[in-house]
Amino acid sequence: MRAPVAVNGYGTIGKRVAEAIRQMPDLELKGIVKYTPDYSVLVAYKQGIPIYVPEGKEEVFEEVGVKPSGTIDELFGSVSLVVDASPGGKGAQNKRVYVERGLSALFEGGESPDVAEVSFSTLCNYRQALGKKYIRVVSCNTTALLRLICLLDRHIGVRKVRAVIVRRASDPKEDKGIVNTVKLDPPSIPSHHAIDVKTVLPGLDIETVALIVPTTLMHVHVIHIQAKRSTSIDEVVEALSSTPRIVVLEGAKTGIDSTSKIVEFARDLGRKRYDIYENVVWRDMIKVSGDELTIVQAVHQEAIVIPENIDAIRAALRLAESAEETMKVTDKVLNVGLLR
Ligand code: NAD
Repeated sequence: MRAPVAVNGYGTIGKRVAEAIRQMPDLELKGIVKYTPDYSVLVAYKQGIPIYVPEGKEEVFEEVGVKPSGTIDELFGSVSLVVDASPGGKGAQNKRVYVERGLSALFEGGESPDVAEVSFSTLCNYRQALGKKYIRVVSCNTTALLRLICLLDRHIGVRKVRAVIVRRASDPKEDKGIVNTVKLDPPSIPSHHAIDVKTVLPGLDIETVALIVPTTLMHVHVIHIQAKRSTSIDEVVEALSSTPRIVVLEGAKTGIDSTSKIVEFARDLGRKRYDIYENVVWRDMIKVSGDELTIVQAVHQEAIVIPENIDAIRAALRLAESAEETMKVTDKVLNVGLLR
């Protein structure tokens, strides 16, 4: 039997998580929650996704041609877990309902860490999340940083991390953002990313600085790491390539030397919406000098957390006992590593 799951909050992250759940052999998407009949509900409806709405709001949806499958109450009565992908801060408000109903819940990175029992990264602390009722999947930048740090730590040991995060201003669908400036985000050190990484790796010496630039495509990280011993570029590449969740690309040889070209590459390879689940590390931008590493990677904010959301569902419901077990399924189904 597949585990019944609901998605509450069907936006950038929610729609991608819902789609991924539908593809997994051990999960069943019972339905999504919608409060207002915007264009995304029309897409979901056309795709055959069951839509659940607040009691009394059925007619508003029927007016735009969407027949709801039932009320939110009915949906929550039929699932084991809710993925809450509502806007940052709303998940904490929604939690009351999950607690009342005894439902497990996943929260996203926009929530404060105390919303959950554990902040989650598959490659760092899968076992810690096993059987937990409330799990928070850390944000896009933190997910990418943690993948890289935990993998390198396993292979060469990580003593210290310093990173500059060049952030996209908004998601492509949003009609907001900066036009002609570089904005400090925030105008202090560290940015929240270092603090968020420490919710998973509390003992790590890490500082981050974040800047917002006028782009919607991807984030870029410039990361300096002090390892616990001397290493080489080949060893770093081998460590990073040991998971399909990180791809190492040759910038000069392939001509893929910008986020726009990574996006085009993903589009040409057939990735829906150009969703890039992988950290994209440029091999040409890895420099190693003794125990000091510099690494530059690009991160697709809309898609990077989707594999971790699926893994976190399996951890909460104990559908896989190890990171390797869940990643084997998630990565195969989502074709993670395609960009290699
Ligand atoms: P979004 O605005 O695209 O989508 C949120 C959806 O939730 C919308 O459909 C909205 O109508 C709905 N909603 C509003 N109030 C709600 C409520 N009270 N309960 C349930 N649903 C409600 O937001 P998003 O970008 O998908 O972000 C969702 C979460 O994921 C946030 O915590 C965010 O920080 C995190 N996150 C976002 C990104 C990103 O780049 N967009 C990346 C990683 C993590």
